[in-house]
Amino acid sequence: MQSIPPRPDAAARAALLDELENEYPLLVRSLLGRSLLGREIPLLRLGEGGTHVLYVGAHHGAEGMTAAFLLRFLSEFLSAYRAGRSVEGINPTFLLSVRTLWIVPALNPDGVELVERGLSSSGFLSERIRQMNGGSDDTSEWQANARGVDLNHNYDAGFRAYKGVESSLGILGGSPTRYSGEYPESEPETAALARFVRSVPLSMILSFHTQGREIYFTSGGRALPYQAAVAARFASMTGYRAAVPSGAASYGGLTDWAVGRMGVPSFTVECGEGKNPLPAAAFAPEWHRLRPLLFRAPLYAAPLERKKENKAE
Ligand SMILES: [Zn+2]
Repeated sequence: MQSIPPRPDAAARAALLDELENEYPLLVRSLLGRSLLGREIPLLRLGEGGTHVLYVGAHHGAEGMTAAFLLRFLSEFLSAYRAGRSVEGINPTFLLSVRTLWIVPALNPDGVELVERGLSSSGFLSERIRQMNGGSDDTSEWQANARGVDLNHNYDAGFRAYKGVESSLGILGGSPTRYSGEYPESEPETAALARFVRSVPLSMILSFHTQGREIYFTSGGRALPYQAAVAARFASMTGYRAAVPSGAASYGGLTDWAVGRMGVPSFTVECGEGKNPLPAAAFAPEWHRLRPLLFRAPLYAAPLERKKENKAE
């Protein structure tokens, strides 16, 4: 098995998935959708249990390390499954008889590519992206997608309220970070994920970001039953802090929408500490903090009655 770079670009992620797919028939690979620039957004599935859990990485370009965490998890899970070994107290064979795991390693492949490979990775949008980037060629901290929309502000939760916050921050259009877009789910990446969330009866969503070592789980300050207790368990596994977001962080995110509108318990896990993008050296210590959560979280997903989407704001 090839090693996983701490911040894998699209080619490294694809090569690893090719290898895992060839090696393990258990792994079912499909396409969640495509990015604005046409890059594939792979969706991986493990198991056929009745309770579904979704892991999502790299909503943000400068948070590509989250894709490495999810790919390492996938790789270790498959290897343990084949060997009949338990990991972090979890027996993979048993787990997959009662759970289905869905993994999207990188929802924002164009943003990750801008950070890892620079402006020239964005093809015909390069000049437009340079303008949104204040005229600079340095996209090493780019968070948005290739249209300058921050995908984790583009979900349908508090969208209108956030427009006021946005303009007070001086953000009036496409930007490296924090611009929410023209309307909810305007972007191909968020539209694809929202379609998936509406079509699969998920019992838990884990959305991975960097950084801060915090776990968010509320929408407008409210959580679903048991979420606070589960977040406390996740906090004790990782040493992260269960927290309620404030300010610009609390609008339009996947967790805001999934908890507030879809009735799906969702957790935003901010991995690591420092400044994005985290340096390669941050990977190994953070992996060890995160590993128990990655393997054990599905045990805390309960079968749910499917709720109707709540459109009221
Ligand atoms: Zn993020």
